[in-house]
Amino acid sequence: MSILVVGSVAFDALQTPFGKVDRCIGGSATYFSVASSFFTEVDLVAVVGDDFTDEHLAVFKGRNVNLDGLERVPGEKTFFWSGEYGFDLNVAKTRDTQLNVFAGFRPKLHQRHRSPDVLFLANIQPELQMEVLEQCRRPRLVALDTMNLWIATAKEALTRIISKVDLVVINEAEVRQFTEEANLVKGARRILALGPKTLVVKRGEYGVMMITKDAVFAAPAYPLENVFDPTGAGDTFAGGLLGYLASRSEITDRELRRGIVFGGVLASFTVEKFSLDRLLEITLADVQERYQDFRALTHFDDFDV
Ligand code: AMP
Repeated sequence: MSILVVGSVAFDALQTPFGKVDRCIGGSATYFSVASSFFTEVDLVAVVGDDFTDEHLAVFKGRNVNLDGLERVPGEKTFFWSGEYGFDLNVAKTRDTQLNVFAGFRPKLHQRHRSPDVLFLANIQPELQMEVLEQCRRPRLVALDTMNLWIATAKEALTRIISKVDLVVINEAEVRQFTEEANLVKGARRILALGPKTLVVKRGEYGVMMITKDAVFAAPAYPLENVFDPTGAGDTFAGGLLGYLASRSEITDRELRRGIVFGGVLASFTVEKFSLDRLLEITLADVQERYQDFRALTHFDDFDV
């Protein structure tokens, strides 16, 4: 089973209360691809400039990530994002976004990329997400992520693409911003009313809530003592969730719950260091071990009073 992702491959400048880095590898599709490649083969569709060298591509080396769909445009610069966090690491403040090579990007999928099993439309302009979806034969599962920028600047296009997907991964503040509804469950139901069957709400250090027509599931975040840089946690989470689902023959409530825990486990590694540094160090065995810790963390007996 394979997964196709379209999104950003980027250079980031980051500042957290614990450190600062002027330029490191980032991008929604980068984190997603590395995370999902723990479970399945990934086709990455994105664009970079010629400042993104073979040395930078090494982040994908030795993983199940196929780069045939990664375009490199000569004479252009790679997408750049600069973000800052205060002590509340759940809130990213964007200092600068330079679309660069993304400004003229019109994704054109190779013939062999047009029938993915699972399609993930990572955070990029909603119009580009739609262009990619329209080029694919209906996948088994289509999911998307977005961000506050597109809710503020491209809400109509975003609403159109949300109505075409099966699963939306979105953070808590974005649910409120998009629906103008203070109550998270009510806001989530409004998004479900647009068409998706499943909404997965990321709540930073408080974990994740999944809402479907029939069920609500909540998982805490893994309680880490050292959270260094939250950048990429959301994309890593989505990569773990969707990568796991792509590896399963059926997508049931049970598998969605497991996928959410795998997503949370992978994200808990990402935030331990800057950029993809920690994610690149770990093995599937590390992921499985933390999954078991998670089970212990959330287990409790039925009452007997
Ligand atoms: P998150 O998982 O939400 O922390 O996403 C972090 C990544 O999103 C960073 O590595 C950025 O390069 C990328 N990013 C930030 N803004 C945008 C944007 N407007 N479009 C696409 N990717 C973005």
